[in-house]
Amino acid sequence: MFQTELLLREFVTHDVQRYILSKPDGYTFTPGQALELAIDEPEWRDQGRPFTLTNRVDDRVLELMIKSYDDHGGMTHRLATSSPGQKLRITEPFDSFNYEGPGWFIAGGAGITPFLAIIRDLADRGQLKGQKLIYSNKTHNDIIQQRELEAAFGENAHFVCTRENSPLCTHSGHVDDAFLREHVRDLSEAFYVCGPPAFTDQVKKTLADLGGNTQSMEFG
Ligand SMILES: Cc1cc2nc3c(=O)[nH]c(=O)nc-3n(C[C@H](O)[C@H](O)[C@H](O)COP(=O)(O)OP(=O)(O)OC[C@H]3O[C@@H](n4cnc5c(N)ncnc54)[C@H](O)[C@@H]3O)c2cc1C
Repeated sequence: MFQTELLLREFVTHDVQRYILSKPDGYTFTPGQALELAIDEPEWRDQGRPFTLTNRVDDRVLELMIKSYDDHGGMTHRLATSSPGQKLRITEPFDSFNYEGPGWFIAGGAGITPFLAIIRDLADRGQLKGQKLIYSNKTHNDIIQQRELEAAFGENAHFVCTRENSPLCTHSGHVDDAFLREHVRDLSEAFYVCGPPAFTDQVKKTLADLGGNTQSMEFG
């Protein structure tokens, strides 16, 4: 367990914030790894929750992007109102997504967060060329890091909005069977899927029917 401190908190969408934490001496991780974070206060210390590191491995601070669920006073709700200086605890990093080669990043909502460090690392190394993003949200206001993702993926970035027909979304509708069959051509590539359970199930099922291999996680 490592002690750390909140340095900065800022909104990236209406319900997702970027948290900048001090980096404990010697703390290292690989892109795609997650940690467990707890608020270092008596009633919260045993309420650790998993989150994915989004910063570059050489940064002097740690970054997390966290969606807060404000419906039942859970950990992310409490974290969302914490102030700089708040003491926190983090675990050693552990594997969540493993990058296994070029392909498709398919995310719904906060499900983009496990991919961010991997995408940034690949972009830095010039290895994102030709890789594809399908990112589904209710409206354009829910899209996390849209400009960065546009810059990283170029014309291979598909922003799907399920409840809005806006020029800021490249598609209106759902990432359903028809959408995937229309867009996904090469099934020998890797598929990385993360989003809410219904989204992840639907995408995994279609890709399995088509014969694709997926690595997936549910949340967001
Ligand atoms: C490996 C891994 C990495 C992750 N990385 C990230 C990340 O980088 N960023 C990110 O935002 N998330 C990430 N998550 C998801 C994140 O861990 C959860 O969103 C977080 O644990 C929620 O904590 P909580 O205490 O606020 O909510 P919890 O109490 O854990 O509840 C989570 C969900 O259940 C619902 N719920 C639970 N109890 C109630 C209740 N009584 N009433 C109503 N609704 C309820 C909540 O609305 C919410 O949908 C990751 C998950 C994993 C497994």
